[in-house]
Amino acid sequence: TAPVNSNFIRTLIEEDIEKGATVPRKWCGHPAPYSEQVKGVDDPARIRTRFPPEPNGYLHIGHAKSICINFGMARDFGGYAHMRFDDTNPGKESPEYVESIKETVKWLGFSWEHNGENDLFFASSYFKWMYQFAEYLIRTGYAYVDEQTQDEMRANRGTLTEPGKDSPFRNRSVEENLRVFREMRDGKHPEGSMVLRAKIDMASPNVNLRDPAIYRIRFAEHQETGNEWCIYPMYTFAHPIEDSLENITHSLCTLEFEDQRPFYDWALERIVPELRTPQYEEAKQILKDMAEGRDDRADAFLARVEESKAKLGITSDPEVAMAEILARHGAESPLAADAADRKAAFALLNDHTENFTPVLQAALDVVRPNFFMLSHQHEFNRLNITNVVLSKRKLITLVKEGLVDGWDDPRMPTLVGLRRRGYTPESIRNFVEKSGVSKTSNSWIDYSVLENSLREDLDQKAARRMAVLHPLKLVIDNYPENQTELMEASNHPKNPDMGVRSIPFSRELWIEESDFSLDPPKGYKRLTLPKDGSPAKPVRLRAAYIIQPVSCETDENGRVTVVHAQYFPETKSGSTGADTVKAKATIHWVDAKTALPAEIRVYGRLFEMEHPESSEADYRTLLNPNSKEILKGYVEPALAEAKKDEKFQFERNGYFVADRVDFTGEHPVFNLSVTLRDSKGK
Ligand code: ATP
Ligand code: MG
Ligand code: MG
Repeated sequence: TAPVNSNFIRTLIEEDIEKGATVPRKWCGHPAPYSEQVKGVDDPARIRTRFPPEPNGYLHIGHAKSICINFGMARDFGGYAHMRFDDTNPGKESPEYVESIKETVKWLGFSWEHNGENDLFFASSYFKWMYQFAEYLIRTGYAYVDEQTQDEMRANRGTLTEPGKDSPFRNRSVEENLRVFREMRDGKHPEGSMVLRAKIDMASPNVNLRDPAIYRIRFAEHQETGNEWCIYPMYTFAHPIEDSLENITHSLCTLEFEDQRPFYDWALERIVPELRTPQYEEAKQILKDMAEGRDDRADAFLARVEESKAKLGITSDPEVAMAEILARHGAESPLAADAADRKAAFALLNDHTENFTPVLQAALDVVRPNFFMLSHQHEFNRLNITNVVLSKRKLITLVKEGLVDGWDDPRMPTLVGLRRRGYTPESIRNFVEKSGVSKTSNSWIDYSVLENSLREDLDQKAARRMAVLHPLKLVIDNYPENQTELMEASNHPKNPDMGVRSIPFSRELWIEESDFSLDPPKGYKRLTLPKDGSPAKPVRLRAAYIIQPVSCETDENGRVTVVHAQYFPETKSGSTGADTVKAKATIHWVDAKTALPAEIRVYGRLFEMEHPESSEADYRTLLNPNSKEILKGYVEPALAEAKKDEKFQFERNGYFVADRVDFTGEHPVFNLSVTLRDSKGK
């Protein structure tokens, strides 16, 4: 793995680990199981991070930064990164996006499976908790149902310089708030008629603290929870709860969430103490005692369980079931040895959030010492890259309006697009590393930095091949008809381990149209016929002979159709006579008899303009009309054996990839990944 650069996130994690402050020891995770329990209670401190996309589109190159940071930090510090789908917004989300996101994160080289456990989560699985916490806020006077219209709410929000105005609904009683909020939940009120707002401060200089909405009504079917809910938490409320329930120690996100951090902290600080009632502490102690009784003899133990139940007044089914699960385990490392029981305990609690008695709260904390964590958010700068649009809305439009060939169109800045274009995971990870992590504002990275990163990677990895994109016939008049020779060429000039291949050579070849000119520009060193009739300059055919053009044929338009040349038999590459004729240029070729016809898709940038998103014009009108060209070329026969997604350098033409969808040995299709040199956009 590449050496890692230090950055402020790394430094702060190092400091946190040093302090042991926010990093759970022993074990943690919901319902993220715990495999390290086998290592005992001296388990080292671990960090937990999460990558939380909303499954409402495909991931793009910007997301790669968030993935590399969240998964990368967890990996580097021996912690865990959770894959979490932030699916709190039904209607725009779909399982198709979920699948693609999972596949893409894996493709980039990361995993949320740790020690055989699966740290894959859906925010929607916490809806019950979120609802319960909203009720807690109401009960403690920190939330109210607001029935102002959206316009009124907006108007009363104030501005950056003017404080906001209190809603007339701000001082409703707890009872009324609970009643109306439950009516919202029960579908008694239409969409948009009211919202639940946190009660903070309408005069706060931070507009995000002016009583933000935390729940809204939405009659939409959710892809995971169906029609179970018609109210949904707002992202700002949901996120800290998700982090906390999952015991995320470092919630790493982009700078635009900086203004939300005070609310993030506010929410967790309000909810955590709410769980720590005196009754709760007492219950927790009794449950712990009870759990410690597991080593007692059976009847004594059962008697003790009964005694404890009586003392706690445990009567409800979930409490009894919970007590029994706990009773089977020790208090020191509770439930640690039994992931199934631990899951069962959590599921039980999950099913009874509405009747979340102090006993259950306490049980939860026995099950998970870090049940409700004060997670912390830290922000880093977004990745901004020129010559693309990254907003999901715009990317969706490009796909829906058929302006590109789907999400994985090789011109798209989506990760599936870049993959199809021939980008390797390494090239993307290296690019992200190069782009840097900082706390200061968002800077722009030139698109060519991304391309360069691919070049650097493919230069080392890609086997060399010859392919002719714009074929022109070359006939070697003095080469015997019906003869075929096999030329040997190395697969990589700097890496002999990559071996050699044979390329058939015979009298008729294809060369690149641009390698012959009747009217050459100054300094042209390739094939030409001097106008004064003097002998033409010799040129080497890569891995074969030196040739000298002698004449050409043209069609009625004056276009050259065939070039005739003669070869110097003693100049075969690698032979002792190779240097007996001087050649100033080397060109590539393929043998006309054996070459494979291939479809070659030459892609350029989708936008030639550096900042299409900041242009006044509709971005759809700014698309580069020449960003895709389909050529009928010829490639050397060895390429029939290429595998889908295999990368090559077509000598002198660039890096190409066998299309991962359309390529077959019978119908080879290659995509231009990147040119050999940076030619500013092409
Ligand atoms: P939308 O376009 O719908 O606002 P989004 O771009 O914020 O969505 P999410 O799915 O919410 O996408 O993003 C998941 C994570 O990826 C978030 O934590 C977000 O901060 C991060 N992310 C998105 N774009 C970038 C970017 N350009 N650079 C770095 N991280 C990004
Ligand atoms: Mg988002
Ligand atoms: Mg976005």
